[in-house]
Amino acid sequence: MFLLIANEPSNYQRIVLDSHFFSYSDGTLSCESLKLDELARQYGTPLFVTSRQSLISQYRAFEEAFAALPHFTCYSVKANFNLEVIRTLAAEGCGCDVNSGGELYRALKAGVPAEKIIMAGVGKTEEEIEYGLNSGVMMIKAESTAELKAINRVAARLGKVAQVGVRVTPNVTAETHPYITTGDSKEKFGIDEAGLAEVFDLFKALTNLELHGLDMHIGSQIFDPEYYVAATQKLLEVLESARHLGFDIKWLDLGGGFPATYDPQKPATPITKFAEKLIPMLDDKGVTVIFEPGRFIAANSSVLVTKILYRKKNHAGKEFFIVDAGMTELIRPALYQSHHEVLTVKQHDKSVVADVVGPVCESSDFFVRHRTIGDAPEGELLAVLSSGAYGAVMGTNYNGRRRPAEVMVDGSEAKLIRRRETYEQLVQNEI
Ligand SMILES: *Cc1c(COP(=O)(O)O)cnc(C)c1O
Repeated sequence: MFLLIANEPSNYQRIVLDSHFFSYSDGTLSCESLKLDELARQYGTPLFVTSRQSLISQYRAFEEAFAALPHFTCYSVKANFNLEVIRTLAAEGCGCDVNSGGELYRALKAGVPAEKIIMAGVGKTEEEIEYGLNSGVMMIKAESTAELKAINRVAARLGKVAQVGVRVTPNVTAETHPYITTGDSKEKFGIDEAGLAEVFDLFKALTNLELHGLDMHIGSQIFDPEYYVAATQKLLEVLESARHLGFDIKWLDLGGGFPATYDPQKPATPITKFAEKLIPMLDDKGVTVIFEPGRFIAANSSVLVTKILYRKKNHAGKEFFIVDAGMTELIRPALYQSHHEVLTVKQHDKSVVADVVGPVCESSDFFVRHRTIGDAPEGELLAVLSSGAYGAVMGTNYNGRRRPAEVMVDGSEAKLIRRRETYEQLVQNEI
């Protein structure tokens, strides 16, 4: 699924791809059939460019891998919550996993039927629970006994019976960045094994709840399928106990976390490898398996196009490309030291070693450090690859920055899917 293309003549111009939706054509980096420099000319920079076909092809690859398993895929909206991204996936039949009232609003606004939406989140307010129940979401997931009581209270007030899932902590520490591991009992997420007996008792006592789902989510960008195997094994044990107690468990939710390739030197484990391990464990359990991929679908579907404002060299000989995007548009390098490929939009034969940094007043405002990059002059464009997941959605207005425009490309058509913010919008809620 992941192709690496060495772009001649310079081997530094490698490109991370889930397929061929971003590639050089006549020496210019393009998204599907459109050149990124033309899009930048039309829409300005910084600019997120998303390939519609990439989103669809990732979703289909996921569905194909798990075709032999009765399952339902809910795209994790938090990875990229743009309405058009949600619409694109919903049109393929995909459901949604939402983590807040705001994400539920987005999913509904994008036209996703409520019965295809799962509501998660470790700290849902009663207002959010009420919004979920009134909308008729497929399942609300609870992460503590206190939250179960809150869901019951709200459901009773509304005269409803809530379809509930319980997030279990499988106590598996997936090897990934410490900020994105979530299945460990040291973390805030889920209910650990010792707490489950109390949870089951509570379900017997609370009459406005029905337990139908068991859930886990062990982290993000997990390369080794064995972590899923170990955690699923735990979840299957819980399934057995729950059924033994008479609960009608219909859904086994394995969460998201499936990896994307950011660094061509470290290609992601193909999704088929996860499917090969998980399908035989699950296909005879009489449940619908739910998956919540986010990054896998969205990460390589967008690039962030940014203009080189200045090049600067200090007296120690260190080079910088100062660009018009920064941590306010893509915070992942600052937050997780994550790797992103940065390519010149125009191919260059000569290369330099440089840092690519943004205009924000923080030393952590960088995309790459000490990286070989095309020798592009000031005024030319760079593309930060793999910016589709946890990119635009984590954007901020820090330093008075305006959130950038976003376009979606479909073949040879582009459409604006988010307008660039204006100065007026920066202060519109202030009094
Ligand atoms: C973030 C999250 C996901 C998606 O994670 P990815 O690593 O992007 O696949 C899925 N489920 C839950 C509960 C999450 O919090």
